[in-house]
Amino acid sequence: MNNSKKIILVSPRGFCAGVTRAIDVVLETLKKYGSPVYVNHEIVHNKHVIDDLTKKGAVFLKNIEDAPKDRPIIFSAHGVSKKITNYAKDNNKTIIDATCPLVTKVHVQADKFYKLGFKIILIGHKNHPEVEGTMGQLPQDAIYLVETINDINELNFSGNDKIAYLTQTTLSIDDTQNIINELRKKFPNIESSPKEDICYATSNRQKAIKEYADKCDAFIVVGSKNSSNSNRLVEVAKKAGCINSHLLENAESLNLSNYSSSNIIGISSGASVPEILVENIISKFQKNYSLEIENVSLGEEDVQFKLPKEVRK
Ligand code: SF4
Repeated sequence: MNNSKKIILVSPRGFCAGVTRAIDVVLETLKKYGSPVYVNHEIVHNKHVIDDLTKKGAVFLKNIEDAPKDRPIIFSAHGVSKKITNYAKDNNKTIIDATCPLVTKVHVQADKFYKLGFKIILIGHKNHPEVEGTMGQLPQDAIYLVETINDINELNFSGNDKIAYLTQTTLSIDDTQNIINELRKKFPNIESSPKEDICYATSNRQKAIKEYADKCDAFIVVGSKNSSNSNRLVEVAKKAGCINSHLLENAESLNLSNYSSSNIIGISSGASVPEILVENIISKFQKNYSLEIENVSLGEEDVQFKLPKEVRK
């Protein structure tokens, strides 16, 4: 067995500004209101983050109706539908909104298109909370979900309809572009947001992996199974030429024997992944192999978002 390996550690990776803000919102709410604090849905899609915040006193709810009346409710980074916002308001809850400002931007644009009389197509994944939140900004017959190119055949608009598309923020750039190209063929006058809906963090992590994945024998994307942006990173690594690419929750789920014949292993992580999970995976390799680590980067990120006023310091 070859006892040495090279790790290519790809950046940008890990926490984006929206995730950092959402976690800080929970921590600041705990400080201000004491424990427990209630969060609608998982604040971000990462098991380590959820377990840690649960220990600190956060309770993550599948159904907002389970939240006690006298406690504040936090909305997750993925955003919520108007129905959920209205429920919280009607029940006099203190709302602390951790929706990522880049998701809110899509909500605002959906509303603008709607008010201008557009029929709206949302490119995204069914049942993802962000998609439910964005679809839920508008009445049901005003917004149509497209997951794949095949779904475009189902769209029947009249010749006079004004049509616009929006996208989920964490999609594959290339797959989404293919869908957009087909939409443009069918609806040449289709309009879009003035600025890309796929966010900077999704885009940067995908571009970096695309650049380096084909130099690796195997690629590990650290992230949770329900994390949309992490799953897209695995797809990008495979499409970029590293077929042996996998999503890994943490070091405990790393089976070293799967990498015995891989000399060069790429590692990156999704936007909701704490760096400690990447470090633990590297340590596990280090205990068994002599490691050379090469850090590669397509650039620094300096995006920061203000906390909501309810918990601003
Ligand atoms: S992945 Fe993008 S949209 Fe999602 S929280 Fe991060 S910055 Fe916001």
